[in-house]
Amino acid sequence: MVVLENVTASYSMRRGLMGSRSVKVVDGVSLSISENEAVALVGESGSGKTTVGKLSIRLLKPLSGRIFYDGFDVTHLPESRLGKLRRETRMIFQDPYASLNPYMSVGEFVEEPLLVHGVEDKAERTEIVYKALEDVRLMPPQDFAQKYPHMLSGGQRQRVAIARAIVLKPRYLVADEPVSMIDASSRAEVLEVLNTLRKGYRMAILYISHDLATTRYFADRVAVMYLGRIVEMGGIEEILSEPLHPYTQGLIASIPEPDPRNRFVERETIQGELPSPQNIPRGCRFHPRCPKAFDRCRVEDPPLREVRRGRWVACHLY
Ligand code: SF4
Repeated sequence: MVVLENVTASYSMRRGLMGSRSVKVVDGVSLSISENEAVALVGESGSGKTTVGKLSIRLLKPLSGRIFYDGFDVTHLPESRLGKLRRETRMIFQDPYASLNPYMSVGEFVEEPLLVHGVEDKAERTEIVYKALEDVRLMPPQDFAQKYPHMLSGGQRQRVAIARAIVLKPRYLVADEPVSMIDASSRAEVLEVLNTLRKGYRMAILYISHDLATTRYFADRVAVMYLGRIVEMGGIEEILSEPLHPYTQGLIASIPEPDPRNRFVERETIQGELPSPQNIPRGCRFHPRCPKAFDRCRVEDPPLREVRRGRWVACHLY
């Protein structure tokens, strides 16, 4: 359904008085998401996940590589020819406080995409809006439709953003860190809502997260990103039970575990900081932080290889 083929993206970064410089934030990423499939894209902040999400719905144009939607190459299509893609794909963002319009009621905000895409009958629009609010468990929908963002909790705001995303019944949804900025008590409910919607609306989802633990909720496959590249990809259970790449192993080792006194205990973390995309290390880009690095890692960049059926790893150990 959505295929990214060797895509690269860059941003322009200012360098004080020396002008600006183009920096690659996504470097040769290939990823496919099938109909009804949920793929998790995981990695630390700054690894390029959000950029991949935006590329996958052509909110951004790649510097190189190709993007396919339903088998059609949409890489260079002008905005005027992206109608089907715009109608059938949606993205929800991390910050539920910034993504809502404070001057629009919930009902107006959720209704807006229907107006943009030509649903002219007011009664029909109202019915669709109420159904979407019910589907994200904001009930009674008639009451919620009258409220304004300042009257809602973070979890409720994110569910309003999800309701707006589903009113056009998208076939593909990019959920960018949808629970990272809401309080812990609302997270499970938002994830549960997304999972139920995915099945009910038969949507494909790209679930972007820095937290591998939450992917278990509903992802079929996971792709782990590090500094603009996918370094490991495979089935969710396989990766969680037997991570191969040292970076994935580090992410899993740092998932907090409940201790007998009912507190969550932070475990080991990956050493060091994510390097800037302006200074990508030579050889394997993870080598300065990798506990298993050896001489070859410092000079040779490992390609992403299929080491067993459906399991891809970029590491000289395999
Ligand atoms: Fe670590 Fe070397 Fe594998 Fe890179 S290639 S992840 S540095 S062992």
